[in-house]
Amino acid sequence: MNSCKLSVVVPCFNEQEAVPIFYNEVKKILVTLKAEYEIIFIDDGSSDKTLEEVKELSEKDKGVHYVSFSRNFGKEAAMYAGLKKAAGDYVVIMDVDLQDPPSLIPEMLSAVCSGEFDSAATRRTNRKGEPPVRSMFARLFYKLMRYFSDIDIVDGARDFRMMSRTMVDAVLSVSERGRFSKGIFAWVGFRTKYFEYKNVERSAGKTKWNFRKLFLYSLDGIVAFSTKPLVLASITGILFLFLSFLFIIFIIVRKVLFGDPTAGWPSLVCIILFVSGIQLFCTGILGQYLAKVYLETKQRPLYIAKDEK
Ligand code: UDP
Ligand code: MG
Repeated sequence: MNSCKLSVVVPCFNEQEAVPIFYNEVKKILVTLKAEYEIIFIDDGSSDKTLEEVKELSEKDKGVHYVSFSRNFGKEAAMYAGLKKAAGDYVVIMDVDLQDPPSLIPEMLSAVCSGEFDSAATRRTNRKGEPPVRSMFARLFYKLMRYFSDIDIVDGARDFRMMSRTMVDAVLSVSERGRFSKGIFAWVGFRTKYFEYKNVERSAGKTKWNFRKLFLYSLDGIVAFSTKPLVLASITGILFLFLSFLFIIFIIVRKVLFGDPTAGWPSLVCIILFVSGIQLFCTGILGQYLAKVYLETKQRPLYIAKDEK
């Protein structure tokens, strides 16, 4: 292995208990590597003592750096900020709660250092310890994502991933606002080796994702990587137009043969409700894309840093 530098990017949001535990664990692994390293903590607008913990570490250890956001911008923004700040030849993104096992780092590093792979990615083979409803929706999301988009995201893929400098630069060049990193990693291409592991429970603290946040995030993912929902909306429109022609013919024939044009109020109401429901649904799909165009054109920065080192 040539001498090289590894940057560890760690997004943190209200993780005061997890930060020191993470640092100790990851440090144990990093010192065994034949590579230089730096750890970059991204404080994503935490309201607890996360920043204090990180600052304390950075005073003790010159290899510890940080970026602190002016408010919570979300994990996606935090990962982007970390990748941007990373100076290493290789960069690995990790959660601070030790759900991404640091013990995989040496294997991942040798995969990317060999030059055979540009990225070493990970996937969880089970979801033990997660609420069953959440797992079910997560699976459904991966199915939908594979159906709607051309990119291939494996079920259980994590953001825990090591990348070469070339790939990091490619990911950074995708500067869209509605970010969905798993999609971006797949979209930029490169050769990826997958490492598998069993789910590990959080070291400390609580999960920062609730159902609402995850649902909105999955919508972001689909809208960012596929325009198929728009096609689906158009096809539904055409289908209904066709059905309505059939229905018109049916009504005319019935009137001519049986002379009964007025009956059928309940069915009429059902049809109106059903069709207007479909219309609103399709307008909603259109709205999602329009909203993304609106947000992209504003060109706002992805995050605001208030402090960094
Ligand atoms: N995180 C973040 N900003 C957020 C939410 C989460 O930086 O708005 C970080 C969090 O501190 C953790 C990682 O993203 O390091 C993964 O979050 P979490 O463990 O809560 O998610 P889960 O593992 O439950 O999916
Ligand atoms: Mg976690």
